[in-house]
Amino acid sequence: MSVVRAAVLPAVGSPLEITGIVLPEPGPGQVRVRLAAAGVCHSDLSLSNGTMRVPVPAVLGHEGAGTVVSVGEGVDHVAPGDGVVLNWAPSCGSCHHCAIGEVWLCAHALTGTANVYTVTEDGRELHPGLNVAAFAEETVVAAGCVLPVPDGVPLTDAALLGCAVLTGYGAVHHSARVRAGESVAVFGVGGVGLATIQAARVAGASTIVAVDVSPEKEALARAAGATEYVVASDTTAKEIRKLSGGQGADVAVECVGRATTIRTAWDSTRRGGRTTVVGIGGKDQQVSFNALEIFHWGRTLSGCVYGNSRPAEDLPVLAEHIRAGRMDLSALVTERITLDGIPGAFDNMLAGKGGRALVVF
Ligand SMILES: [Zn+2]
Ligand SMILES: [Zn+2]
Repeated sequence: MSVVRAAVLPAVGSPLEITGIVLPEPGPGQVRVRLAAAGVCHSDLSLSNGTMRVPVPAVLGHEGAGTVVSVGEGVDHVAPGDGVVLNWAPSCGSCHHCAIGEVWLCAHALTGTANVYTVTEDGRELHPGLNVAAFAEETVVAAGCVLPVPDGVPLTDAALLGCAVLTGYGAVHHSARVRAGESVAVFGVGGVGLATIQAARVAGASTIVAVDVSPEKEALARAAGATEYVVASDTTAKEIRKLSGGQGADVAVECVGRATTIRTAWDSTRRGGRTTVVGIGGKDQQVSFNALEIFHWGRTLSGCVYGNSRPAEDLPVLAEHIRAGRMDLSALVTERITLDGIPGAFDNMLAGKGGRALVVF
């Protein structure tokens, strides 16, 4: 047992509390990790305001990497001292989706969030946010939630692999299956949007149009590989069609999770184009299509969960792109903060500012 500092969500809609939590030694099948860094993802904000729900009180944070401190009985794929990426959606290996190879849809991926894994210093029971409770100096997770950091990837950068990069890369490579020479429009230039732009560049996309409500993100988007930048307005779809040969983009990736953006993304693609939605919206966001346009345009619209990724297979591929300089994870980070900076990072997200804020321990 020892006490570490963590960002606790006491109740849905309440501000985060930075406080001490009592961390137990890892039990059988568990791993204790000392965090090097943790990214502040939009899903953390969605969990704190109730757009997404997990049992509370909880330690948030699901995009992290660190060093193994100790392992429980039966854990042999990592050892103390190893660098690991946290995987917030471990697959059970035995449900219907795991059996047919769609591990990102595992029926039991979030069952661990129902467990009480520890208590605050003042005795309140705590759930591990999205399984990994990465907004803490140290955490104890199920063995399936840790993957070795590939060689050549700095530990702090590796944190981003755990959510933004797997999601953006997977949206491009697994969901939309972008081919060389295709045009891609990316809606929302946050951490996932920037990773998506980089992944589109790696896929050999010809035109990459970045779209955001803020004109201030143009330089960030262009540095990630965007060839065009559009400030969102009523004419966004028309502008994208013009920028992609008059036909519309081959692929649109929506990283926002709003009805209007999803509809605009779909409208900005060519006849037969593909739209992938990685943004997580609320139940109140209704998107409507008429029956004739669905037929006429022959477009597809797909949801994409965690990049439709198999993390253990994707991490070595991503590491290859990072080592070769084709992807640059530190370019996604616009702010380095401490645990106390997370509420400010939420405010920036709500205001549409910046890329990824990274908690560095
Ligand atoms: Zn995330
Ligand atoms: Zn499963």
